[in-house]
Amino acid sequence: MRIGSGYDLHRLVPDRPLLLGGVRIPSPLGELGHSDGDVLLHAVIDALLGAAALGDIGTHFPPSDPAYAGIDSRELLARTIKLIGDAGYYAVNLDTTVILERPKLKEYITAIREQLAADTGLSVDRVSVKAKTNEGVDAVGRGEAVAVHAAVLIEEL
Ligand code: MG
Repeated sequence: MRIGSGYDLHRLVPDRPLLLGGVRIPSPLGELGHSDGDVLLHAVIDALLGAAALGDIGTHFPPSDPAYAGIDSRELLARTIKLIGDAGYYAVNLDTTVILERPKLKEYITAIREQLAADTGLSVDRVSVKAKTNEGVDAVGRGEAVAVHAAVLIEEL
C-alpha cells in the first residue's frame, strides 16, 4: 500500500461556477481556473499521482496547453485513474478537507461524496469529504479563495 497527499487552492471570482467534486454548489462566486477550476478534484488528482510517485497535475495536464482550457476536471480524474491503473495500482480510500468560508457545504457533502465515489469507482463509505472555514483568517477566510487537502491510499492491483 502507498499513501498520497494533495493540495490545491483557487481564487473565487464572480461569473464562474463553484464546482466541488463535480457538484455545482450555488454561490455568487466560483473558482478561477484554466480548467473548470474544480479545486477538490485537483487535490484528489494530485493525491493519486503522489501516491504512485507519478508527478503532479501540472506534469500531466499542463495549464499552458490549450487542450485543457475549460476542461471538465472529472475527465482529468478519469485519465488519472487510468494512469494509476497502468502503473499497477487502484485507490482504496479517499479523505478530503475543503476549506471555504461560504457557502456552508453541510447540505452538499452527501452529493459530493456520491459523485466522487461514482467517478473513482469507490464505494461511498470509502470516500470522505469534510468541510471547514478558515475562521476569517487569510485569503481563504476573507472568501477570496477555496482550498482543499486530500489524502488517498492506493494498493497494488
Ligand atoms: Mg487547480
